[in-house]
Amino acid sequence: MVKVSKFGGSSVASAEQFKKVKSIVQSDQARKLVVVSAAGKAHKEDNKITDLLYLCHAHIKYGISFDNIYSIIENKFLNIKNTLKINFDIESELSSLKQELIKGIDEDYLISRGEYLTGLLMAQYLGYKFVDPKNLIFFNYNGNVDYQKSQEAFDKLLTENNNLLIPGFYGSLPNGEIKVMTRGGGDVTGAIIANLANAEIYENWTDVSGVLMADPRIVDSPKEIDVITYTELRELSYMGASILHEEAIFPIKEKGIPIQIRNTNKPESLGTIIKNTERKSKSIITGIAGKKDFSIISIKKNHMSTEVGLINKTLALFESYNVSIEHIPTGIDSFSIVVETASIKPFIHELLSKIKDTTNADEVSIVNELSLIATVGHQMKNHKGMSGRLFTALGKNNINIMVISQTNDEINIIIGVHNSDYEKTIATIYNEFAK
Ligand code: ASP
Repeated sequence: MVKVSKFGGSSVASAEQFKKVKSIVQSDQARKLVVVSAAGKAHKEDNKITDLLYLCHAHIKYGISFDNIYSIIENKFLNIKNTLKINFDIESELSSLKQELIKGIDEDYLISRGEYLTGLLMAQYLGYKFVDPKNLIFFNYNGNVDYQKSQEAFDKLLTENNNLLIPGFYGSLPNGEIKVMTRGGGDVTGAIIANLANAEIYENWTDVSGVLMADPRIVDSPKEIDVITYTELRELSYMGASILHEEAIFPIKEKGIPIQIRNTNKPESLGTIIKNTERKSKSIITGIAGKKDFSIISIKKNHMSTEVGLINKTLALFESYNVSIEHIPTGIDSFSIVVETASIKPFIHELLSKIKDTTNADEVSIVNELSLIATVGHQMKNHKGMSGRLFTALGKNNINIMVISQTNDEINIIIGVHNSDYEKTIATIYNEFAK
């Protein structure tokens, strides 16, 4: 039985956090595969090592001295080493990296050193074998993981060692160059390792006790979600709930490996389990999430209902500007297109006039400051009158709904309201269904 335990930046941010990690890892023999992020923020004013490395790179690029920033990085690692009396020569690693920096260094290689150095210290502290991901996580040039090559390397490593410590966030390209993932990619490494190991579970240790039903900045102490499906989580993450890197679901979903989000600072709490199977829970909804700043472009034309291909022509225009479309609510002689405002801002007037010319519409209009809010839950399909309750609650609170969208799998209901009603809408939905 093997568990993959991934610890995020805040879980490895200081000597004190290192101790918590050790006690978590040692309390369960199945925790044989440990993945770490680069040391993150130990407190609010602190900086993440990854951010500091990006900053170093920017300084080098503009020919400005990076000494001050580099010494913050050095101090962070030295402090952990000295406080915990870790028997590892991190000093020479740090000074050779500095030499490389002076000579000129590849950006991805430099950025990856955050997880590399954190991993070296943690491996020594736990007594686990350090594995450099450049020899384990292999990417193709298109950015996809070469699972076959990675699996071979992983199997070989496991026959020689029992317990492995693997830094997250990077791997190597076919020519051996280091490639980092997108920010927060340590989550993805954990998922890849869980896939390669056929792990029983992928534990993602962070600084919150699981996924919350709503944003705690809007709803006072929202409930934690105990079980959520991959699809529900994807819907919530897409709509703005930041829990796990978006790409972290795919490597484990196909094998049905559950993910458990847990809190390093509160290991007794079981957090949230993300898995394939739906489970009955008391609440009809699983969670609520939303995003501000969308625009809705409406196209009106008499007798549109008898004209074929009008929506298609309009969508092709958006495609030509490389704009991704969120929703397309339709009427009889009108339809609307909902997009992120930022994605059309640079060419908005040009786009509107092209739409008018292409469609010969009677009216093309745009409304900005739209927020989209998703109410997500697989159990909604079993409850009649769900949307009725939702709309009544919003109506009672004087919230004007500008867009409604629901797909027929009924996993979510998305509504659009004015930005100024965003917080009130989320709170109203929470009070109606979650309390
Ligand atoms: N250290 C990287 C970041 O800050 C990756 C991670 O933490 O997962 O984005």
